[in-house]
Amino acid sequence: MEKILLIDDSDTILEALKLEIEKELSDVEILLACNYKQSNDIIRKNSDIVAAIVDLHLPDASDGKAVLLTSSHNIPTIVLSSTSDELLKKLIMKKDVLDFIHKDASNSIEYAVSFVKKLVRNMTKTILVVDDSALFRKSFRSDLERMKINVIEAVDGKDALDVIESHDGEISMVLTDYNMPHIDGIELTSKLRESYTKAHLGIIALSATEDESALADFLKAGANDFINKPHKYEELNVRVNANLDLLDLFQAASDLANRDFLTGSYNRRYFFEASAAILDKNARKDENIAVATLDIDHFKNVNDTYGHDIGDIAIQEIAKVLEKCLRKSDLVARFGGEEFCMLLENISKEDTQILFEKVRASFEDNEIPLEDGVLKYTVSLGIAYGKSTDINEMIKISDDALYEAKDSGRNRAIIHEK
Ligand code: GH3
Ligand code: MG
Ligand code: MG
Repeated sequence: MEKILLIDDSDTILEALKLEIEKELSDVEILLACNYKQSNDIIRKNSDIVAAIVDLHLPDASDGKAVLLTSSHNIPTIVLSSTSDELLKKLIMKKDVLDFIHKDASNSIEYAVSFVKKLVRNMTKTILVVDDSALFRKSFRSDLERMKINVIEAVDGKDALDVIESHDGEISMVLTDYNMPHIDGIELTSKLRESYTKAHLGIIALSATEDESALADFLKAGANDFINKPHKYEELNVRVNANLDLLDLFQAASDLANRDFLTGSYNRRYFFEASAAILDKNARKDENIAVATLDIDHFKNVNDTYGHDIGDIAIQEIAKVLEKCLRKSDLVARFGGEEFCMLLENISKEDTQILFEKVRASFEDNEIPLEDGVLKYTVSLGIAYGKSTDINEMIKISDDALYEAKDSGRNRAIIHEK
């Protein structure tokens, strides 16, 4: 869970910030400090604070001493202050402060929180900067890193295509120059659009004002936006954030259609859609796959003993355990009730056996804390292993294996080879 530190001697401000953060960001821990000493104690105990909103004047620390404290611990810091001391403001901005917000401005609380929200979001994003000039790459990198975005570089269009392939799914956006050796920016944009839609990958063209016609070609080739070179930090900040917002909106819409509400796992419909593409690709490679079906043992007892709500917690726990045990590239879906289905590529039979034995044992050892006591349950797994181009055939084999696992006493993982 992300930790956010709020430092202010006014309880009213702390409470208002806290409320706004809770409204805007789920899954964050908010740490409150009303003086320097408290801030120092909190920072010592929490090495993983991702952002701080800091007041300049505290009863035991004036003139921005608390900002020095947060920035010396490399905590991304936003100042929220009512000072009108311009000299102090200038001095503070030199300390790597990300923004200075005047408390009296209307919406200052909302603005500060939306800034933090973007920071937390940006920490999960990676942008590929493609430019043959090391100097330009460096300047874009440093400004993007100031926005807390992860940066990867490529020296031309050809290099960019290799980098994207080796970082499959990791890159949210490409910032590309026009004139480059091997493959230029417009050709790169066209090639990327063969595999990635605007909903999956943002492309921003970096163009010098002299190549105005290039700009139109960039947009025709599928670029989302452009930034003039040499750029200004403010423009980069606004355009990149706006395009990341758009990608998040696309993602939210697709999650609504493809994910299960209770667990956040993919739904059955998405499993069939995604597995068709995976099996198609896999058929050309002629490799084995594994399809596994998991089902909670005696789940009716869980519902009967603890109630339906605790039953729901047990189902949510399946998604969490599977996320821990499986790779990011493995496909996991809730098929309905307490039954999940998984599709894995690039895995040997021996590793399949080891993996699902580990999954089974993870549930056996798992204790889910409840208000009074703990919840424990076991699962059974049926796994189909082999070459196939038909997902239904593999699911049928895994179902048979699951039936055998249930029939032979439950709490076991059984593999059937195709
Ligand atoms: P077995 O070991 O043979 O799998 O026994 P079981 O009790 O788990 O049997 P079964 O799979 O038939 O039980 C499924 C139960 O799951 C019945 C149903 O009430 C319950 N169930 C289905 N969907 C949900 C849900 O979304 N939440 C909760 N809490 N229960 C659900
Ligand atoms: Mg069951
Ligand atoms: Mg069932």
